[in-house]
Amino acid sequence: MRSLAELHFVAGGHLLSQADRLQKETAYQPSRPYLEHQVRARVTALPNVRVLERCEATGLTASGTPSRVTGARIVRLTDGGSGEELLADLVIDATGRGSRTMRWLSGLGYPEPAEERVPVDVKYVTRQLRLAPGALGARRIFLIGAIPERPTALAMFPQEGDRHLLTLGGYRGHHPSPEPARFLEFVRTIAPPRVFAAIRDAEALNDPVTNRYASSLRRRYDRLRRFPAGLVVIGDAICSFNPLYGQGMTITALEATALRDCLPTGEADLARRFFRATAGLIELAWRMGYGNDIAVTASDGPPPPRPIRITNALADRLLAATTVDAVVAERFLELSGFLAPPTALLRPAMLTRVLAANVRLARRGHRLQPPAEESPLPC
Ligand SMILES: Cc1cc2nc3c(=O)[nH]c(=O)nc-3n(C[C@H](O)[C@H](O)[C@H](O)COP(=O)(O)OP(=O)(O)OC[C@H]3O[C@@H](n4cnc5c(N)ncnc54)[C@H](O)[C@@H]3O)c2cc1C
Repeated sequence: MRSLAELHFVAGGHLLSQADRLQKETAYQPSRPYLEHQVRARVTALPNVRVLERCEATGLTASGTPSRVTGARIVRLTDGGSGEELLADLVIDATGRGSRTMRWLSGLGYPEPAEERVPVDVKYVTRQLRLAPGALGARRIFLIGAIPERPTALAMFPQEGDRHLLTLGGYRGHHPSPEPARFLEFVRTIAPPRVFAAIRDAEALNDPVTNRYASSLRRRYDRLRRFPAGLVVIGDAICSFNPLYGQGMTITALEATALRDCLPTGEADLARRFFRATAGLIELAWRMGYGNDIAVTASDGPPPPRPIRITNALADRLLAATTVDAVVAERFLELSGFLAPPTALLRPAMLTRVLAANVRLARRGHRLQPPAEESPLPC
């Protein structure tokens, strides 16, 4: 995607400007298998990389007092489960949300990190489609986010092989169903009419696939006072975000670059430097998702704390401005893709644009968050 004109993005109930302006960055939407295939091909092509297939890490090896991690215990799943030890200068736990490092740390006499959870109870149903040529007009990407009045979401992207990936999501009480008629009915409640028709008339390439996500989860390794040398933790093993916001892979990639930047200084204090370097980034992504989750599910629980209400009100003014100002819309996209820091939105020129846009909208009697069924703008 090179232009806002190719995008139909409704964030917080506001449809982003669809001005035909070339953007600084091109956005690609490969399928997950294709992306992972490319990453894997590049990593395995490195001369000093060796991949051990079908192995399970079952523990850490350590020595000394205080103990230092010296490697990992692994079990080869292919040859009847024989175990062995792999020695390493640095062990990086990238085993995702189910990481067992907490337990292993406690076995070595180190404290476990505190865990923070935000219950969201989100369900995803995803299906691959082949759409009729031209069915969507000029738009290529559709992102319709959840709002308190409609805690459901839709994402549809073109992918390689002339396919579209359609994902429906919903919070507790508003879960999508994989059953075809109810799946389509769910689409009708959220998609603009033209998109609904394109999906209804599309060829389905697979059965719907369901995924349930109970809570966002963050492990506070950055707050630990004691942590062994020779070990770091990365990616979902530190923080697993609500997948509705599509943040996880981006944050993991940024963590990997932070680790790259920490390594040249040597191994002294490496884990603490790395956890510190990534804590701000994770905090930002966590707050972006958390604030929205709280706003969307507010009717289910106590009112959000005041700082979240204030942040959400400011975010709403920003999102309102994206509907009429393409420059603000682009900055918002850069921020949500972590290509620019939030401070980029606080520059005087940007604040002036946001203010001016809101004044224009108020003069027009702008109404926030129109019901999805109205779909006021052509797609
Ligand atoms: C439904 C859903 C949709 C998502 N959509 C998006 C999106 O659109 N955009 C986005 O950026 N992110 C998305 N995410 C989040 C994204 O998938 C994760 O943030 C990302 O995969 C984290 O990468 P990771 O390497 O830390 O962990 P993972 O991708 O979970 O990889 C961990 C790997 O470690 C292996 N493993 C686990 N335990 C062991 C062990 N003991 N020994 C050996 N191997 C082990 C696992 O098999 C796995 O291969 C989504 C997540 C979900 C659930």
